[in-house]
Formats: sequence, C-alpha cells, structure tokens
Amino acid sequence: MYLISACLAGVNCKYNGSNSECQWVKEFMTDKDYMLVCPEQLGQLPTPRPPAELINGRAIDQNGRDITENFIDGAKKTLKEAEKKAAELGQKIDLAILKANSPSCGCGKIYDGTFSGVLVDGDGIFAAMMKEKGIPVISEKQPFEAARYK
Ligand code: SF4
Repeated sequence: MYLISACLAGVNCKYNGSNSECQWVKEFMTDKDYMLVCPEQLGQLPTPRPPAELINGRAIDQNGRDITENFIDGAKKTLKEAEKKAAELGQKIDLAILKANSPSCGCGKIYDGTFSGVLVDGDGIFAAMMKEKGIPVISEKQPFEAARYK
C-alpha cells in the first residue's frame, strides 16, 4: 500500500486552500492500493491556515504561533490510520510519496524557518516519523525513484 500527500492528488488541503496536483503521482496511483494523507488537517489545523516552517524542530506559523503539537498529533494519527488500513488490506506500507519541502511532508529538504523560500537539509515532522518506522519516503520530485516500487 502507498501513502500519498493528499495535496499531490489534487485535494485542496494546502495552507492556502489550494493543492499541488502532480500528474505522474496521479497516474502512479491508478493501479495501486493507496491512502491519501494530510497530517496537518488531521492535526486539527484549519484550511486555509497561515504557512508554517520548522525552527529548531518546532513548527511555527507565520504569525509566530507554535503549532508543533498539532503537527505531531496529526502525524501520529495519520500513521495510525495508515497502519490500520494496511493491516485491513493485508499489506505493508511500501512507499510514501510526500509533498516536497513541506514542514510536515518534506523529505530531505525543507524551508529554513525564515519564510523566504530558502531550503535546508531536513525532513518534515511526518516524513521523519515515516522514516523512523522504516517506510521509504520520496517526493513528487523523484518520479524515477517511484518506478522502483511499481
Ligand atoms: S504537504 Fe502534507 S500536510 Fe501539507 S497540505 Fe500537503 S498533505 Fe497536507
């Protein structure tokens, strides 16, 4: 089973109320068992919401509000639901395809906390949790990596 950031599938769950629809991800999904996930929405954050970035491991929104607990709670709930669905299907979670650079879903590179578009090495809170569980994580910027999991 595959986990896909819901915004990549065209769901309007991004902070600004839009999505990050990705054509190859949508095509990849067509013949797979998958679950769409949005850990920020599951963490009770509204849509739209102020953008947030990670600063010293804390999720801080553009108004200076610390919403780390929402991020962690949403990530844990997402993982729990994903594990439940995988168990129902009798499968493991083969791969998570998550939105690049997000403070939740980003894998390998995230914004640096200055809200100026600068990227630094690091993972979003949900992506890090997936990796800790041993689940492979890639972003929509790695279509060739996904081919290995078909
Ligand atoms: S990047 Fe992740 S948390 Fe952000 S809108 Fe997309 S699915 Fe939700």
